[in-house]
Amino acid sequence: MNVAIIGTGYVGLTTGTCLAYLGHDVVCVDSDPAKVARLRAGETPIYEPHLAELMAKCGDRLRFSGSYDEAVPGAQVVFIAVGTPPGPNGAPDLRYLSAAAASIGERLGDSFSVVVNKSTVPIGSGHWVDSLLQESFDKHHPGKARLFAVASNPEFLREGSAISDTLYPDRVVVGANDSRSLEQLYTLYRPILEQTFRAPAFLPRPEGLGAVPLVATDLASAELIKYAANAFLALKISYINEIGCLADRVGADIAQVAKGIGLDQRIGMRFLQAGLGWGGSCFGKDTAALVATASEYGLRMPIVSAARDVNARQRDLAVEKLLGELKILKGRTIGLLGLTFKPNTDDLREAPAIDIASKLIERGCKVKAHDPVAMTRFAAEHPGLELSLCESAEQVAHGADALVLVTEWPQYRNLDWAGFKRIMRTPIVLDGRNVLDRKRLVTLGFRYLALSQGGA
Ligand code: NAD
Repeated sequence: MNVAIIGTGYVGLTTGTCLAYLGHDVVCVDSDPAKVARLRAGETPIYEPHLAELMAKCGDRLRFSGSYDEAVPGAQVVFIAVGTPPGPNGAPDLRYLSAAAASIGERLGDSFSVVVNKSTVPIGSGHWVDSLLQESFDKHHPGKARLFAVASNPEFLREGSAISDTLYPDRVVVGANDSRSLEQLYTLYRPILEQTFRAPAFLPRPEGLGAVPLVATDLASAELIKYAANAFLALKISYINEIGCLADRVGADIAQVAKGIGLDQRIGMRFLQAGLGWGGSCFGKDTAALVATASEYGLRMPIVSAARDVNARQRDLAVEKLLGELKILKGRTIGLLGLTFKPNTDDLREAPAIDIASKLIERGCKVKAHDPVAMTRFAAEHPGLELSLCESAEQVAHGADALVLVTEWPQYRNLDWAGFKRIMRTPIVLDGRNVLDRKRLVTLGFRYLALSQGGA
């Protein structure tokens, strides 16, 4: 099928590449000319495992352009995958979506197209996008009958495993109010739904994966599914962090508690890792949007709001732990290991490291940091944050009064802690993700801190 993707970020680029790999003809459009130039030169502007390898396999089926004219006319499916960042009151800022819809509407026409919202958008946006498309279409094609419909196809990929999540999803959700759109999207996704495509050698099909369920709904339900799923995951993390705070007080080991409850299949082990909490472009924004949407209908969402409060508290708790140990923060040097909101991505949006660094700087600390992939991006995106970027974790440790493990990159699990002990001013480690070998660190003479530290 002919596919246009509008917005070539984490979602658009992954979707476009995977669909081209499956055999569709894909043109990805982005309004950022520098991004388009890099993509045309075969570079990947984001860090995402396996993306470059898969792009290289797509040949001419995957093209990049700055012009809607090269993508929309003749496309059977047009995906909107532009950003929907949080606005000041929690509701998402929809200006990119509105601009994209106007540009698409202008170019729709001679054959049926389904315009699909892949961006995470407030419930009801499908109707709104439809009206924007219609307005633009009427303006540019007065008197012509429309040949398009709007659908919703929420995205569930996780940065860091985006390709695998797209090729081997748990489910595909498609919302539309007309059967033709649903049929078109079924045809598009058929190789994934039936798992009939040849798996790339570097990303084999998970053993035992059968047909992928398709959840076909009306527009509003698909839009709500996305928010409800993200809010549930966010509150699972906040739940274990809340239990972690109590575990800390009563001397229980939160890792054992998580295992003990997670093995109950009704609960499940995933998303029960206590620590600094969530970050990234989705959970914070989407929980805020859910609360904002509910309030438009006169509803409160106390569970989702509490999950947000607990998540914010974890970042304060990290600073309090350091204060409790060092007594005075002014003039101290604190080293942060990891800047991205989680490992295997270069995404810094709502990353706990940024909040923690700001809070420490406010209290008069000097902050040093290292990240395996995101230091250049950090320097470009946060020029105002006075933090020294170091070439290695060892440089961060040099002269530090405490190290904080913020992102659990695999390379931080086996650092030369004996060597670090010699070069740090005081051997204090705050394990923000509960992944370090506590016994070993204590044996080496470190003071080991965690947000939930109880247990023997
Ligand atoms: P992103 O910021 O990485 O990418 C958005 C891209 O759209 C940018 O390259 C930008 O230049 C481009 N753009 C903006 N306006 C445009 C326009 N009018 N025409 C063409 N291009 C335009 O965003 P993302 O992380 O890919 O997220 C996209 C959407 O998907 C958001 O709604 C987000 O909530 C949702 N989502 C993201 C993830 C994730 O993990 N990143 C997961 C699920 C859903």
